[in-house]
Amino acid sequence: MMVDGIDAAGSAVRRRNGPIGVVIAGGGLRATSVLRLLTEVEDLRVVGVFDSSLNAPAMRLAEDLGIFVTTESDDLAQIEGLDLILDLSEDPAISRGLSGLSIPGVDVITGSGAELVWDLLVAKKRSEEQEKIFVELQVAYDKIRSHERKLQASKEALERANAELENRLAEIFFTHEFFKALTVFSSVDDVASLVVDGANGILGAEISCVYLFDQETWTLRLRACQGRPDEWFREVVPVSETILGAAFRDGFTQQADVPQGSELARWVVEPEEIRSQTAVPLRAGDSILGVLAVAWTTYRELDVAERDRLQVIANQSSLTLQNALLHEELERLSVTDRLTDLYNHGYLLQRLEEELGRAARFGHRLSVIMMDIDDFKQFNDTYGHPRGDQVLKAVSGIIRQNLREIDVAARYGGEEFVIVLPETDAEGALRVAERIRQTMEAYEIEVDHGGARDRRTVSLGVATYPVHGQTVARLVDAADRAMYEAKRQGKNKAVLAR
Ligand code: GH3
Ligand code: MG
Ligand code: MG
Repeated sequence: MMVDGIDAAGSAVRRRNGPIGVVIAGGGLRATSVLRLLTEVEDLRVVGVFDSSLNAPAMRLAEDLGIFVTTESDDLAQIEGLDLILDLSEDPAISRGLSGLSIPGVDVITGSGAELVWDLLVAKKRSEEQEKIFVELQVAYDKIRSHERKLQASKEALERANAELENRLAEIFFTHEFFKALTVFSSVDDVASLVVDGANGILGAEISCVYLFDQETWTLRLRACQGRPDEWFREVVPVSETILGAAFRDGFTQQADVPQGSELARWVVEPEEIRSQTAVPLRAGDSILGVLAVAWTTYRELDVAERDRLQVIANQSSLTLQNALLHEELERLSVTDRLTDLYNHGYLLQRLEEELGRAARFGHRLSVIMMDIDDFKQFNDTYGHPRGDQVLKAVSGIIRQNLREIDVAARYGGEEFVIVLPETDAEGALRVAERIRQTMEAYEIEVDHGGARDRRTVSLGVATYPVHGQTVARLVDAADRAMYEAKRQGKNKAVLAR
């Protein structure tokens, strides 16, 4: 039967507006496959399946899919929306039935045309699947990449956190050791070295140093340094100069970037090398003992936490440093004579004992000079005791000028002096004694404000180990007797013991 109103033009309109309606003829396996494929094609709609047997696989599948099935070719003309019959039957009876059919606007594709449709459908299916697989692969790849990036980022973050933690731990460990060591160290040099090590270990300072204040000269003197050899630093820095002087005078931490050639960095021999520097006063109570300075040859600003740490190092070490300085001063006072700053009697005997032991061990000579100012009582009586004290100071200065580093000079009694000359024989010692005698003889003492001058001579006795004595007592006694021999011979003389 023909469907009313359906002609070639009508069918064309439908094709433009809606999906193309297809009937599959044949119920075999190929028909089944095409049925499956066509249900996935958007612009096509399978509107019926036609075969001689209702049991054919395609017929059964169509029924399952809710598609119209028929065994009568006459039924096909009544199917609404039919545009195309695709003959996929392997049954000649079906093909014959279709060739007798003529429905307006409906094409029948058979033979090689149907083969072509089959091939196209299969190819389309394959490429769709490939595309789908490709898209899935792309998605999977993107996911893997993003996971990989996240993993990498968290791995890096973990490594950073680890490094940071290790740094902090090392710092805490070092800080702990630093404070522990502070309680143990007692000499000024040890404490100063510890402080520069602390600045390096806790703060990572490239260069650090401790300068201590010298009250007599109003200068800062290098006591410990780190990061560069000693000669890189200026040994003495006036308190009026550089960032060290500023920190000392103001009593506050000073931080500065150093422009080329700046005066601020002249606490080192080549200030051009310094780019950043910070100086912290070492304060104990009301007094400022000196300055701790840290510096870099690159621009580097300390952050707040670092400045705090530097302050803690300075504060904690200042107290220990003060103790050490007091201790050092006490020790110095206990061995030196207040008026002349030479060693005192007690220390001299102790040192002489040590030096004699050394001379005995190494088979060296050692000499002792005993010296007494001539007619000093008379001088005191004429000019007064304070003027006499000035002479004692001048004499000690003359003695110092004539000695080597290893010699030891002491004020032995009121106006008596003893000099120990290690590794020196009688002849050498006599030369030293004679030099002192001559210097003294030529030395003019100002005795009043009017410019009047006087002179005072000295008498000296020389004794040498082991010739004139082998113990401290015998050696000193031999030198003393030689000195009295000089007095007996008319004073202003140097006499060798016999
Ligand atoms: P000489 O040694 O030549 O025999 O005569 P001298 O007058 O120096 O005699 P002696 O050595 O016995 O005198 C010691 C004097 O030294 C006594 C004292 O007036 C003086 N004297 C000792 N100690 C000091 C001191 O600390 N300051 C001053 N100004 N004088 C001192
Ligand atoms: Mg005397
Ligand atoms: Mg005398």
